[in-house]
This record gives sequence, C-alpha cells and structure tokens, in this order.
Amino acid sequence: MKNKYNALQILTKVYRHTLRAVPFSGVSGILNYLVQGLFPAFTSLVQARLFDAAYSLTQGVDTLTIVILYGSLFVVAYAVVYIFQFISSITINAGIYERCTSYYNMKISEKTAALPLISFEDVNVLNLQNRAKDCAEREILSQIYMSSTVFITSGISVISTISVLAAYNIWFVPISIFSVLPYFIARILRGKEFYSLKKAQAKKTRRLDYLWGLFHNKQAIKEMRVMGFGEYLAQKWVETRDEVNEELWQQNIKDGKSMLFCDTLKIIGYGLSILLALLLVVNGHISIGIFGACIAAFKSMQESTKSFLIDLGTMPEKMAFANDYFEFLDLTEDHNGIKSIDGIKDCISLSNVSFAYPNSDDYALKNVSLTIHKGEKIVVLGVNGSGKTTLSKIILGIYPPSQGEMRYDNILSSDIDKNSLYTYISVIPQNFVSYSLTLRENIAISDLRHLQDDSLIKHSLASTGLQSLLSQVGSLDEQLGPEFGGKELSGGQWQKIAIARGLFKTSELIILDEPTSALDPVLETEILRQFIEIAKNKTAVIISHRVGLCKLADRIIVMKDGQICEIGTHYDLIEKDGEYRRLYISQEQWYR
Ligand code: ADP
Repeated sequence: MKNKYNALQILTKVYRHTLRAVPFSGVSGILNYLVQGLFPAFTSLVQARLFDAAYSLTQGVDTLTIVILYGSLFVVAYAVVYIFQFISSITINAGIYERCTSYYNMKISEKTAALPLISFEDVNVLNLQNRAKDCAEREILSQIYMSSTVFITSGISVISTISVLAAYNIWFVPISIFSVLPYFIARILRGKEFYSLKKAQAKKTRRLDYLWGLFHNKQAIKEMRVMGFGEYLAQKWVETRDEVNEELWQQNIKDGKSMLFCDTLKIIGYGLSILLALLLVVNGHISIGIFGACIAAFKSMQESTKSFLIDLGTMPEKMAFANDYFEFLDLTEDHNGIKSIDGIKDCISLSNVSFAYPNSDDYALKNVSLTIHKGEKIVVLGVNGSGKTTLSKIILGIYPPSQGEMRYDNILSSDIDKNSLYTYISVIPQNFVSYSLTLRENIAISDLRHLQDDSLIKHSLASTGLQSLLSQVGSLDEQLGPEFGGKELSGGQWQKIAIARGLFKTSELIILDEPTSALDPVLETEILRQFIEIAKNKTAVIISHRVGLCKLADRIIVMKDGQICEIGTHYDLIEKDGEYRRLYISQEQWYR
C-alpha cells in the first residue's frame, strides 16, 4: 500500500510536533549536532598543524608557542563538544524521547476518543491504530527527529572533512565513499523488508495482546481454570509468539549477515586509506603531520558517513511507520450535529434503516421501519444474531444507518448534537462494567450531579432490590471489587447495580440490552418487572431473547434475520401463527 505522505511532509509534521511539545530540548538537540558536525573537520585542521609544529620542535625549530596554541585549541574543542553532549544527553532523553513519546501517545488517545464508535468494528482501523501505537511506543517519531538532525550535522561533518581530505589527495574521496556505501544499500533493503514484516505481523501481534489479556482477565482466568483450557490458550500464545519471533529472527539473521559484509568492506577501505596516505608520505606529497591528521580524519569521516547512511537506510521503515501514525491522526472523527435538543418529546422513528458492519457484505439490519412513542415500553425479541443489539445501537445513535433515516422528534440523528442527546438517554449494556470503585460511584457515576446525594442513591438501591446490599458492604463509600481489596459481589448483585446505575441517570429513554440474560428466566423476569415499574415515566426499550416480560410490554417487536417480522402486543401476536407464537410456546414452560 502506498504511503499517503512523502518524506518531506512527514519530516515537516515531525518537526512541528516536536518543537511544539518540547521546544527547548528540540532546539538544543539541533545545536548539539551542529557542534558535533563541525568537530571532525576542525580538529583535523588543528591536529595537522599541531603534529607539524611538534615535529618541527623535535628538529630544533622554535615552534613551542604554536604547539601550545594548537594544543590548547584542541583541548578547548573537546571540552566544548563534551559540554554540549552532556546538556543534550539530558534534553534528548528526557525531552525528545520521554516527553515526546507521552505527547504522541496522548495524541493517539485523544484521537481514539474522537473516532466514531463504529470505527472500532473496523479491522483496518484497529490495525492502523495498532501500528500508530507501535510507532509511538518504539519512539520512531523521536528517532526521525534526531536522525534528520544527525543527517544535517553528519552532512556538514562529512562534506567538511572530505573537503579537508580531498585537499590532501583526491583519491581519499572515492575510497571513503566505497567503504561506507554498502551500509546504505543494506539498510534500505532491510528497512523495507522489516516494515513489510511488521505490517504483516500486525494481526498476529493483536492476537498476542488479546491472548495475553485473557490471562489478566478475572472472568477468563476463572473460566479457563475450571474448564481446563488455560494450558491450551497458553500454548496458543506461545505458538503465536514463536511464529512472530521466528520471522523477526530470520530478518535479524539477514540483517546481521549484511552488516558483517559491510564491516568487512569498511575495514578494507580503512586499510586502503592508510596505505594510500603512506604512499603519499613516502613520495613526499604530504607531511608526517598531515599523514597522522588525515588517518584520524578518515576514520572519523568514515564513522560519520556510516551513521549518516545507516540512519538514511532505516528511514524508509521509520517513515512508513510515521506515515501510519499520521494517517491514524487523520481519520475522520465522529460527526457531531449542531442541533441541541431539550428532550425527546414525541417519538423516535426509523425509516427503511439498513445497516452493515464495516468490511461485511451482509446487512445486520434490513429495511427496518419503526416508530417508538414517548413513554412506550417496547420489548425487542428475537433469537441470537437476529439484529436486536444492532437495532439498539442505531436507536442510541451510536452507529449511523448505512441506508435510511433515523430521527428523534423529526430531527435527523446526524443533525443532533450527541452531547445534548445523551443527556436524555441511559443505557444498560449487555456487557456492562463492574467498576472497582465505591458503591456510591457504581450507582451515581451515571449522573455525577447527585454523587453526594445519599438518600437518592439509597432509594435507587432499594428500588432495584438491593436493600440488603448496603448493610452487607457497610457504607456507600465502601470499595467494591477485589482488585483494590474491596467487597466482591455476586453476579446477580452486579447486574442489579448496573440496572440501578442505568435508572439513576435522569433520562427520558432507557435501553436495556439483556444484562440479565445470564440469570434464570424467572429471576430475570422478576428483575425486569421491577425495572418496568421504576421506568414507568420513561420510554424503555428492552432487548431480550426470552418472552417472560412480553405480557407487560406495550408492544413487542420480533426480529428475524435483521428484519422486523412481527409487531404487536402479546395478545395480538399470540393470535397469529408466527415467530412470536413459536418462541412463546418453546419457552412457556420456564414461566409456569
Ligand atoms: P442479536 O443482538 O440479536 O444477537 P446482533 O445485532 O448482535 O444480534 O447481530 C446481528 C448480526 O450482525 C449477526 O449476524 C452478527 O453476526 C452480525 N454482527 C454483530 N456484530 C458484528 C460486528 N462487529 N461485525 C460484523 N458483524 C457483526
């Protein structure tokens, strides 16, 4: 896949972000490398004069002042370089690497928070996010900043030193270039391969993270212990890790071999340069001082060229990661309409709504038309996979319809400011979270204005059948969940807490997506009966695959294969010889 940005565009972005995040460190890093860049050529000139003056001194010529002058200059140059190195080692590590990395991570978090929720169902977005995280965590953007700074300074260093060497003898130029060029070629080839490998490994890396996460998930650990599949998952993790490592290992072997080849060429080049310089001394073309200085300069130039070319060679790989990072930051953010609403006054309506998940050809909802009137209690019924949860996400405005229209009181959902909409909506999801927070927070987190309202929280507990919970845990400020040494509750108690939390929020519409499906049917019906009682002034949509509550609903919507196949009251639908009657008869014995 072609990169969206070219190298110059990426460099501009990296510089802009770095200088914005850490201006002092950014500038001092550049200054340090400028000084380092000029150092070899400067010392080479000083060294040649120093050696010649010292040689003359040994021949009885009075060059002591010159020796002292150039000797002092030599020491001062080293001191200046070391002072700059010292300052920049702090600013580079703490600023350009650590602070920038947290800045880049923060940008990923901000972007993730701003993405449309449907993006998280898109495997391409998840992979791009993964590579962007990889880019930030491996400090690639900071490396690009530093490498590009090194380019400039290595460039200065190489050009100035080659000019000095060329002035002694022109043959030094091709030999220097020949000895370091292989690094460049090797790096470019390996860099591209490494990036392609990392890209191809993105899915495996995500699987590794996922499997690793299971071993840190309380529920999963319990299940794998009892059901005895921990070993199987661990083995799966090991196999995936080995596959990833083996591919990286093969890549590193290739890399190592080419580096060995390059190092051999470099040594040959260095030996040739000494030989050439010796010939020039023997033939009287250069002095003994220049001979010494030129060998030192050749070595330092070779080092600069090597690091310059190695950095340049790794650039395509780094640029490709950086491209992914900036592409992730470019993803379209959640569209938020501008119309503020002050409640859902009349109805919620769907007109010919169809919906397909990203990267899926099948429609999870097909041509759904439905009007939910204010205050209605609706049960959405259907077997697993019939489209109930997808419908609830469309009603909540979390997913935009792929086709058709969704309106709240005749206003298109895409036109509405979601923050104003969510003031009036509450949800109790299927996979609700059991927060390791206090009992108070577990209830009132849905409406923080009443976080300190003890009587309201207690009322909420009582009305969801949790009267005894308060005396069981001690107080509202008691920590729940074992993570921080709090009290662990039963599954049923957590479910009731989730319902209490959903009901605690002052809302006009409440959606309950089977949080009680794990309970036995009679207990579930009992809890839902209480729910309907408490939610009597609200519009409620209850998703279920069980018929227990249907007699209490104003209307039942029966879903099948992503479509509404029946709508009506229990008595209407039982009369018909359709899907509802079939479901009812198959479950009837649970409720006798
Ligand atoms: P229900 O709530 O009735 O069990 P869902 O609304 O969860 O059904 O699913 C409806 C259909 O959409 C199913 O065929 C399911 O496989 C598919 N589906 C659900 N979630 C996704 C997803 N994230 N990506 C692709 N398809 C999905």
